[in-house]
Amino acid sequence: MIAYETQWDYLFKILLIGDSGVGKTNLLTRFCQNTFDQDSKSTIGVEFSTKIIDVGQYIIKAQLWDTAGQERYNAVTKSYFRGAVGAFIVYDITSFVSFQNVTKWLNLVREFSNPNTQIFLIGNKSDLNHLRQVTQQDAKKFASQNDIFFQETSALDGSNVEKSFLILSEKILQNL
Ligand code: GDP
Repeated sequence: MIAYETQWDYLFKILLIGDSGVGKTNLLTRFCQNTFDQDSKSTIGVEFSTKIIDVGQYIIKAQLWDTAGQERYNAVTKSYFRGAVGAFIVYDITSFVSFQNVTKWLNLVREFSNPNTQIFLIGNKSDLNHLRQVTQQDAKKFASQNDIFFQETSALDGSNVEKSFLILSEKILQNL
């Protein structure tokens, strides 16, 4: 459930990271504004949006950070990770390469963020099942081997987007 109160109990910095074009910006706008932009073009520079999340016992102010194109030049710096309590590593289910690169992003998150940072693997563009290059089975296996959560989403039709943000927020709360 999403609440719109301005009072909140915790501020969570949550990152979105992954190859360019996997849908990070659209996941963010789907969650924060419930919109999708077919022709979205990455802008350069880190950007964040906020959203109030009601997880029942607490009201969370989620500050969601998007690399906004810097990932294309491997220019994501250590400061992006500072203070992050959660991270979504996103790949595109229609791009095997973007899934292969998850290892690189995971290493980066583990290197630069707090050991307690909760990591969630997202296979986005689940609406493009006919173009799938990454099986759910392979992604689940990777996630369990690396002890991270996994969910497929579609920023286009909204599937599992809100759910993933809620699950991550709950996991962060449990590990505070
Ligand atoms: P970013 O570079 O990771 O931030 O990716 P964007 O959010 O800019 O999305 C890249 C492209 O993929 C855009 O053309 C989006 O419209 C498209 N896209 C993003 N998410 C989805 C999705 O869930 N389904 C489909 N079919 N296209 C998507």
